[in-house]
Amino acid sequence: MFPLLFGFMNIQYLLMVLLPGMVLSGGASWLVKTRFAKYSKVPSARGYTGQMAAQKLLDYANIKDVQVVRVDGMLTDHYNPTTKKLALSSAVFDQTSVAAIGVATHEAGHAIQHATSYYPLKWRSAIVPVANIGTKFGTYGMMIGLAFLYGGSVFGKGVFIVGALAFLMFVLFQLVTLPVEFNASNRAKQLVVEAGIVSEQEREGIDKVLNAAAMTYVAAFVSSLLTLMYFVMKSGLLNSRRN
Ligand SMILES: [Zn+2]
Repeated sequence: MFPLLFGFMNIQYLLMVLLPGMVLSGGASWLVKTRFAKYSKVPSARGYTGQMAAQKLLDYANIKDVQVVRVDGMLTDHYNPTTKKLALSSAVFDQTSVAAIGVATHEAGHAIQHATSYYPLKWRSAIVPVANIGTKFGTYGMMIGLAFLYGGSVFGKGVFIVGALAFLMFVLFQLVTLPVEFNASNRAKQLVVEAGIVSEQEREGIDKVLNAAAMTYVAAFVSSLLTLMYFVMKSGLLNSRRN
């Protein structure tokens, strides 16, 4: 692996892919942590805990088969469509803060997407298995393909294209994650006031927390897109078509 790494993980890769990816992802996760910490200290006036808020939204949306459960860890909150469990971390489950309500109702937003057969969520679930393969083998496929291409081997082009297509599946997965995440947050922002969980003024904090969380998904998408673009550029396959 090392000759390959030295061949492609050069200063250009560092500047075009690694550095922007680290700045974007690092910046987004810093924003999530600071905003979550800030609004964790802002109690909501009506005293709903994260668990109560999630349950209230599920009731409001007339969803009866989803269970709100507690999960270990920090910011590990998620909705599992297979088990129909809405998992909230302890910090969210028991707290009455604006941040806790924001996270909990965002996950309820996913449960509502699932119950109403929201299309991007279906696409996302369908693409998950291929995306997992894509992220594991796509990068290696592209690297090995490049090594063959540089060595003048006839297999280079084929191996590279297979690797690039596998990685493209991962990029598409991250792309389709964006409408899913933005939509879950939009549902939460709207319904949290409509269902009487928080006041219009308190919603501002919820917006801040959820918008920061959405940025982490944008950062992940941009990072993987940069990786794909870099490798395609290095392969020279797009240039050779013009010649
Ligand atoms: Zn989400």
